[in-house]
Amino acid sequence: MVNQPIQIFARVKPPLRKHQQGIYSIDEDEKLTASLEIILPRDLADGFVNNKRESYKFKFQRIFDQDANQETIFVNIAKPVAESVLAGYNGTIFAYGQTGSGKTFTITGGAERYSDRGIIPRTLSYIFEQLQKDSSKVYTTHISYLEIYNECGYDLLDPRHEASSLEDLPKVTILEDPDQNIHLKNLSLHQATTEEEALNLLFLGDTNRMIAETPMNQASTRSHCIFTVHLSSKEPGSATVRHAKLHLVDLAGSERVAKTGVGGQLLTEAKYINLSLHYLEQVIIALSEKHRSHIPYRNSMMTSVLRDSLGGNCMTTMIATLSLEKRNIDESISTCRFAQRVALIKNEAVLNEEIDPRLMIIRLQKEIQELKEELALVTGELRTEALTEAELHQLEKLIASFLEDQDPESRLEVGADMRKIHHCFHHLKKLLNDKKIPEKSTVPAVIKNQDCQEPVQEEEYRKLRDILTQRDNEINILVNMLKKEKKKAQDALHLSGMNVSELRHSKSSPFQPRKPEEGQRTLLSSAPTQAQDFGTFGYRSNLLHKKTGMREEMSLGRQEAFEIFKRDHSDSVTLDDNKQILKQRFSEAKALGESINEARRKIGHLKEELTQRHIQQVALGISEHTAVPPVPDPREETLRSQLEEEKTRYKTMFTRLKALKVEIEHLQLLMDKAKVKLQKQFEAWWAEEASRLQADSPAVNSVDHAKPCLQVSEPQRERSCLPVATASVVSARRIAPSPCASLHSQELGGSSTPGEGSTPRRPMSSIPLTGDSQTDSDILAFIKARQSILQKKSPKLGGLQPSGVKRLGAVESTCSSLGHGGAHFRCGSETPTQPADSE
Ligand code: ADP
Ligand code: MG
Repeated sequence: MVNQPIQIFARVKPPLRKHQQGIYSIDEDEKLTASLEIILPRDLADGFVNNKRESYKFKFQRIFDQDANQETIFVNIAKPVAESVLAGYNGTIFAYGQTGSGKTFTITGGAERYSDRGIIPRTLSYIFEQLQKDSSKVYTTHISYLEIYNECGYDLLDPRHEASSLEDLPKVTILEDPDQNIHLKNLSLHQATTEEEALNLLFLGDTNRMIAETPMNQASTRSHCIFTVHLSSKEPGSATVRHAKLHLVDLAGSERVAKTGVGGQLLTEAKYINLSLHYLEQVIIALSEKHRSHIPYRNSMMTSVLRDSLGGNCMTTMIATLSLEKRNIDESISTCRFAQRVALIKNEAVLNEEIDPRLMIIRLQKEIQELKEELALVTGELRTEALTEAELHQLEKLIASFLEDQDPESRLEVGADMRKIHHCFHHLKKLLNDKKIPEKSTVPAVIKNQDCQEPVQEEEYRKLRDILTQRDNEINILVNMLKKEKKKAQDALHLSGMNVSELRHSKSSPFQPRKPEEGQRTLLSSAPTQAQDFGTFGYRSNLLHKKTGMREEMSLGRQEAFEIFKRDHSDSVTLDDNKQILKQRFSEAKALGESINEARRKIGHLKEELTQRHIQQVALGISEHTAVPPVPDPREETLRSQLEEEKTRYKTMFTRLKALKVEIEHLQLLMDKAKVKLQKQFEAWWAEEASRLQADSPAVNSVDHAKPCLQVSEPQRERSCLPVATASVVSARRIAPSPCASLHSQELGGSSTPGEGSTPRRPMSSIPLTGDSQTDSDILAFIKARQSILQKKSPKLGGLQPSGVKRLGAVESTCSSLGHGGAHFRCGSETPTQPADSE
């Protein structure tokens, strides 16, 4: 048993603005513990809390200042916990602090750089590395990922669900058994045999979390996430199994409700979060007070789940994340205070050993059998009842395998049962006789062969037939798949009217439906092929997209708009950067793969040469009737040292390739995540844009009842800066499938809608908003038109805006301000040569 108080660490996040100094100081000189002093700025000190202290001092195991990188955090905080988990103890690391203080950055990592990966990916990497090294035990690793939001648990790893909101994820509930053990119903456990598999699960969970988040439920700041590694280990042949759990917890933001200042739904959420953290605080207060018998774990889901971590069977570590800026000073102080209380809690970690009942039964059965046999030998008691048919059959099988066994040491073990021993002798005699007869007989050898091969052939034939049936089935499935693919491609072609991009899509589609395992398997293949296999990483992207169910549903117009949106989005820079890095890593991996192959070939040659040399030496010795010369052969020495050198080179390159593989994997996952995020933002923007256009629509086209169309007057076209040329392009683009099409050309003539003077109107282009591909191209054309005008009018604007959403929003507002501002801007005449949808 290990008695240990919860370890507390502090991590200070780099400030947004530099030169924010003088607010805190760190004193590491004191024995063992470090202390953090938060100094109140003069202007705050007076009115702060209820006393006039000027500084607050808090003790921590260690304090990591702004410049501490992720590796330092891992080595000092997470690695010791991971080590105790490997030894069979439970471990927990939780991050506590206000929103934006770096909890997610610390636990999961930053979304941009590989070097920013946080505790979870680094710990996974470390654990799997250790498991690989230790061959004395058999390890099994499972992963679960739970999100708790508003006192409800959600399984972030459920593969069946395509979550678009939190409610779509399976709800996890708590069950308590009579021994007061907590069980989580509906939380799926996924086996991970490699680091890659575990990492995929982490990213799948994070992506689900991101997708499920809406502006209304900013789940990432208001929910708790618990990533758990379940590790079991067993020594071969032993019935004792060790189980250990490692919880890596990203808590909700600890800010108080008073500061949030929100109402309605958001207030409920803020309260809830506070409620949840409030219960955590209560548990911690109760635990830190001596002689408290009741600990209110059951008040909230989170404290129930983390019951062992808080004052129980676990080695627990807390990281207080601090954003030590002036405006956060009260929150930072309260985070530190919380940590001080946490440090008073003592945990008692024990080795979680368990006897595997299945293995135990087998073991006991064997023991009973042995004892019975011993007893029979000692007492000389004979069993009289006849052996059963099954026993006889079993004995004959044993004899057969005994006879086939080439090992001269092999024994025929039938136990101390005289009936069995006798039967064995009988059977052996029979076999011997049977063998003698055919030898004497005159039956031709061919027939004899046939006879004894008969059962073998029969067996072989049956096997082949089974394989044949299996193959037939496989072929049928493949043919069906191909048919489906073909049909899909044809449908796509049909829909897009032979659009080029669609063609491209249909061409590539046969390669898309690949099983996830396939990709993973290729990742694990041997070193020389790894370099080529990196190309198959893309499957994950499909997996994630499949998860989101977004991309597939995008119509062409929408896809085009998405491309524009992506281009204008700030994250696309990171995406591009990462793409660039990824490219470099790919080529590095490819080159390494080639060098490894080369080294391998060289090693082969050197070995060959050495053997040849050796044979030559021996031959020489024989021919000269002398022994192999005892003096070392210089050529052989050189060859050996070359071989060693080559082997070292091979090993170094192999290690580098392995590291590269992990990095590429991680970057790929980061990019996938960023893509999904971008797509999500695009969807939100798209919906907003569509509803705004609809809201702005003055009147519904009276002819077309099926599809609402917006009509816009001439003056309005000016206001919103849609050029005439653009309008006609928009109109022209719509001709075929839209029921409104025939009207547009007339509308362009200048007819205006009634009531235009009082309400703002849109340009004359009709913009139906039903979400079909035609509609999408309309919106797209509309956006493009506005963009191109804006770029002409104010080329700087695009570069100044940080994100696509904002930028397009700016386009909108600039357009309307131009219109309302009276500076008459004739878009139509100023942009005659600029087509709206220059593609
Ligand atoms: P929280 O999860 O506590 O709300 P985040 O982890 O999301 O906060 O951090 C907020 C922002 O600050 C993120 O953009 C993150 O990348 C950045 N950040 C946090 N901690 C650090 C750090 N130690 N170094 C660099 N950037 C950080
Ligand atoms: Mg966070």
